[in-house]
Amino acid sequence: VVQVRDLHKSFGDNLVLRGIELDVTPGEVVCVIGPSGSGKSTLLRCVNQLESATSGTIRVLGTEITDPDINIDAVRQHVGMVFQQFNLFTHQTVLENCTVAQRKVLGRSKAEATKVALHNLERVGLADRGSAHPTQLSGGQQQRVAIARALSMDPSIMLFDEPTSALDPELVGDVLSVMRDLAQQGMTMIVVTHEMAFAREVADRVVFMDGGVVVESGPPAQVIGDPQEPRTRAFLDRVL
Ligand code: ATP
Ligand code: MG
Repeated sequence: VVQVRDLHKSFGDNLVLRGIELDVTPGEVVCVIGPSGSGKSTLLRCVNQLESATSGTIRVLGTEITDPDINIDAVRQHVGMVFQQFNLFTHQTVLENCTVAQRKVLGRSKAEATKVALHNLERVGLADRGSAHPTQLSGGQQQRVAIARALSMDPSIMLFDEPTSALDPELVGDVLSVMRDLAQQGMTMIVVTHEMAFAREVADRVVFMDGGVVVESGPPAQVIGDPQEPRTRAFLDRVL
């Protein structure tokens, strides 16, 4: 469902992505790990067209999104994204956060959007917090609202960029458990994370990036448990 070929991205003379190859199949959970500045966020942002590629091709759900003539909104609608900072609308309730885009982008009625939102708030364990404002919730709860909001658009793919990095340690588990449930329900996911235990347990495949390229990719037991590349080993020695 996602196919990245020879993706290059530079900001000015800073070559951030230098020929990324990535394939994600339906239902697959791919965890992307790597040092700070290796280009992990930039890769996700290119897949979601928040950044445009400098060269190379990206296919998402059969559409080549690097083609300037396509309707990117039609593709982006099927791709949910959850960021480190939750980016909730603080002046809206939880329920409003989860219904606005459904109504504006998908044209759903208020009743239908509410029904879908409540179903997804239930999935993240927050069905009773619909009338709360984000500031009344913990960071972990806010992040779960952000996940419910993304799910309410019925995405085919979910992209996560370090969804637990901004959270207090005791709140990380609830968010990871929601993500684990999603993975078990068959959602296709690309997850940039520093949570090695999560990657080991939930990922079908782990991709190690360094210096804007994929250095090593394979099952978690291989890439995390028995890395072949010296750069992967050096990184894991630092984080494990
Ligand atoms: P981290 O683990 O710290 O989140 P990362 O692997 O996600 O790191 P990126 O955020 O993709 O790394 O950044 C890679 C490089 O791209 C960095 O050198 C960064 O300064 C640069 N970069 C990212 N976004 C932009 C931008 N919008 N404009 C200019 N440079 C950028
Ligand atoms: Mg990043």
